[in-house]
Amino acid sequence: MSGLLEGRRAVVTGAAQGIGLEIARSLHEHGASVVLADLDEARAVEAAAGIGERALGLGCDVTSEDDVQRLVDRATEYLGGLDVLVNNAGITRDASLKKMTLEDFDAVVTVHLRGTWLGIRAASAVMREQKSGSIINLSSMSGKVGNPGQTNYSAAKAGVVGMTKAAAKELAHHGVRVNAIQPGLIKTPMTAAMSPEAFAATEATIPMRRAGEPAEVAAVVAFLASDLSSYMTGTVLEVSGGRGM
Ligand code: NAP
Repeated sequence: MSGLLEGRRAVVTGAAQGIGLEIARSLHEHGASVVLADLDEARAVEAAAGIGERALGLGCDVTSEDDVQRLVDRATEYLGGLDVLVNNAGITRDASLKKMTLEDFDAVVTVHLRGTWLGIRAASAVMREQKSGSIINLSSMSGKVGNPGQTNYSAAKAGVVGMTKAAAKELAHHGVRVNAIQPGLIKTPMTAAMSPEAFAATEATIPMRRAGEPAEVAAVVAFLASDLSSYMTGTVLEVSGGRGM
């Protein structure tokens, strides 16, 4: 343990698997106490148990105003305050414009945009009282360059960037920083859903010639959560092996 985040109190959404779980692990390894939130409470509890002490699993659908408020209330009570929120929960519903339904569009935009906005609003209310805090939003390189088959997801992830910058400007003078990360192709259950051919074709376009590991995203989250990034707000950090530069 580095002690980088010793005593910090963190919430991670969508933390039962993939990048979110690795973020929770990393923050915890650096000394933070962590609340892992996910749609399925049983999976969140199991993930928290796997991390050990100073970790709590809670159910939360980030698209529900009540759920997100309850998450922030319960986490703040359990942790004794709130220093870090990671808006990580996400979904994809990929399809070409010919085939994408309105439901596919709305579902993706709602989870990423409404979910992130609800998280920022609820957490920042606590953080501005404390006069400190760090909010980290998961965008995607898809939001920077646009991916065919992802008109919904690319729009949502570009929207997360605008939301990050607007919130950063509103909250900066309250001591609350808001930053975003744009991962490229990362090995998680989300990308395991891609065909092996599509995965390999995407991997071939990456200057570093490999997909990234969830831990390589989590390390950047730990940096943004910590005082190492104390003069950074409203930034967008690409974690993509050089893809899309
Ligand atoms: P993942 O493996 O699919 O994990 C996402 C987690 O979020 C799942 O546990 C999922 O639960 C949960 N979730 C979905 N909808 C939710 C909701 N409404 N409320 C609460 N939790 C919800 O995805 P990942 O690859 O780790 O991605 C994590 C984040 O990074 C996402 O925002 C994603 O868009 C972003 N990202 C990923 C990549 C990549 O290459 N993997 C690249 C760029 C950005 P269920 O399993 O029950 O649905």
